[in-house]
Amino acid sequence: SGTVKLINLQGAQILRCRREEILGKKLSDLFPEATAFWNSSPGRYREIELSMYDGTILPVGFSSTFYLGDRGINQDIIVTFQDLTEIRALQAQVLGKERFAAMGRVVAGVAHEIRNPLFGISSIGQIFERELSAPAHVELARALLSETKRLNQLVEELLIYGRPIKLTLGRCDLVGLWEEVIGMHREEIEKKAITISGDLAMGHTPAYLDAYQIRQVFLNLIRNAIEATPQGGEIMIRLLLEDQFIIFKLADTGSGMPAENIARAFELFFTTKSKGTGLGLAICKKIVEDHGGEISIESRERDWLDERKGTTVTVKLPYRGITDRNEALVNSRA
Ligand code: ADP
Ligand code: MG
Repeated sequence: SGTVKLINLQGAQILRCRREEILGKKLSDLFPEATAFWNSSPGRYREIELSMYDGTILPVGFSSTFYLGDRGINQDIIVTFQDLTEIRALQAQVLGKERFAAMGRVVAGVAHEIRNPLFGISSIGQIFERELSAPAHVELARALLSETKRLNQLVEELLIYGRPIKLTLGRCDLVGLWEEVIGMHREEIEKKAITISGDLAMGHTPAYLDAYQIRQVFLNLIRNAIEATPQGGEIMIRLLLEDQFIIFKLADTGSGMPAENIARAFELFFTTKSKGTGLGLAICKKIVEDHGGEISIESRERDWLDERKGTTVTVKLPYRGITDRNEALVNSRA
């Protein structure tokens, strides 16, 4: 009849009840889906989902057997069951990773195929630009070249995104890297009269990182910050070492982001810019996670009450210092 005669502590815990609350009750009164416990063929493993009081769903795996009473008659049913929540989460994670890797391969393959014809088109464009005499035609050739340049940029970014996870760790000076990236954008920074201030508490402490990839992260983040910051705005950098983590923060006084954009910012191809690719932050996330780190965004839009606004991106990377052990590890991989 489904009345519970006995339940062990573990069983009650899985069902998030105390034993007294279950004993002597019909289990299906508490969990309607639990009728499957005694309506299934004995010995066969099954998985069902129980609706809990608080509206959550509990996935359980179970199988049942008959318990033979004194005179050898089927009297009771013994059900063994387990909580599948953790297993389901792991399965979803693996599936997500596989899908991600598969998509990366497709993206890299397509980008690679586009690169060669694109090179052909831009070479022809350069010849046109040189050889054509009518100014209107030269203008068209230039437009063609600037569009191929944009496409090229997109292809390069797709290739970076689609590259399989493989870190080439080496001694990396983050402050130096940061200064290099700023130097590359000197012109735009001056044109917009942006003030750059920094708290580089980490100093030139070296760490083992993939310098090429981390540089890519810095590049994408500074580009976004410059693009969002208005004339005369400010960009602040913090780089510090804290509890075995490298913390990198980039704050700007730009437009800020509404919550729905923050939620989607790391998605592939999400952009709010007319000429954006929506790849910058997706690439950052991939690189940071490949390093075992995390990336997050805090942002507020301007409102008429509050003048403080802007975006802060935080990157947190596990710190691998320069120790003999790490040195040996890196050398053995090289
Ligand atoms: P893209 O720069 O090509 O648009 P990204 O992945 O770099 O692609 O950024 C995605 C979106 O996130 C941007 O289009 C923009 O809306 C938002 N965003 C990113 N960084 C900032 C920032 N510093 N300030 C405001 N918005 C930002
Ligand atoms: Mg960008």
